[in-house]
Amino acid sequence: MKGVVLAGDRKVEILDFPDPAPGPGEVVLEIRASGMCGSDLKFYRAAGGAASLGFKMSDGPVIAGHEPCGVVVAVGAGVPEREARIGMRVMQHHYRGCGVCPHCATGWMQLCVEGVAEVYGATAHGAHARYMKCPARTLVPLPDELSFETGAAISCGTGTAWAALHRLGLQGDHTIAIFGQGPVGLAATQLASAMGARVIALDVSSERLARAREFGADATIDPKATENVVQAIRDATRGLGAHLSLDASSSPLARAQAVRCVRTWGKACFVGEGDTVTLEVSTDLLRRQVTLIGSWTFSTIGQGECARFVADRGIAVDRIFTHRWRLDEAEEAYRLFDSQTTGKGVITPSA
Ligand SMILES: [Zn+2]
Ligand SMILES: [Zn+2]
Repeated sequence: MKGVVLAGDRKVEILDFPDPAPGPGEVVLEIRASGMCGSDLKFYRAAGGAASLGFKMSDGPVIAGHEPCGVVVAVGAGVPEREARIGMRVMQHHYRGCGVCPHCATGWMQLCVEGVAEVYGATAHGAHARYMKCPARTLVPLPDELSFETGAAISCGTGTAWAALHRLGLQGDHTIAIFGQGPVGLAATQLASAMGARVIALDVSSERLARAREFGADATIDPKATENVVQAIRDATRGLGAHLSLDASSSPLARAQAVRCVRTWGKACFVGEGDTVTLEVSTDLLRRQVTLIGSWTFSTIGQGECARFVADRGIAVDRIFTHRWRLDEAEEAYRLFDSQTTGKGVITPSA
């Protein structure tokens, strides 16, 4: 089979790999949708690829893609039928841990006390290929009502937004300011709006702000065109500030504004990876009783709950994909995604 490799320095390679066969406890998926996540851009751009970002690498090139969704086509020895059977429609939780520590046992393999053993699509073969091998315990059933593309989105970007909103304790009577309307921020706008909250969406791209309004944002702010972003959010909240904020931009300035724009007793959450932030602990945090939360992706349980919510409420999560690509179009797909003005792309390796 062909697999897409992000070699770093903005190079995309499509290489030949053997078709995988499942070992004990494993399955092979036929991938129907493999989403492109913002964090893939880090591997795409890095000089030296994922290895240079501190990931423990296996030998040789690794197939990218950590938003896997497809159908079980082969089941290895010792996998109970309730866990996986041929033809089952599934998402995949893209981490492998020891499987038995308290974090793995509660569906948080990325927090494994022995360190995460594999991140699929970064240190082990991911979903930008026709087939993908993984432990059966990393599968999360895809509700019948949901498309494979929706499942792919939930497998990282939308699931990450879901988990962050839960960490924040979002309620329908809250106003939340969401910094950055890339795939994760836009998904947060869509979900928070569906949960009944009022959303103030921020981004420096007018295209992305227009999309945010389509996805339910009540108000939008372009920080480049706004003299005082924190004041603008206070002005939109009767002078009090937002109840909650979420930073999905990773910008040091946006992160500081995300903390400063919440009201007294408010909560701010960071989901964007990398870079830094500078805060005044007294004025920004403690004298206003502000809670600051870091949130990294989601558990298998949260992934399933997000899918159930999306199915039950009929939320059009797959609208987040503006571009659909065949496997052999991966180079063009990443070149366009790299511009960070478009929406999210999805690769359909079995098409
Ligand atoms: Zn991701
Ligand atoms: Zn573990």
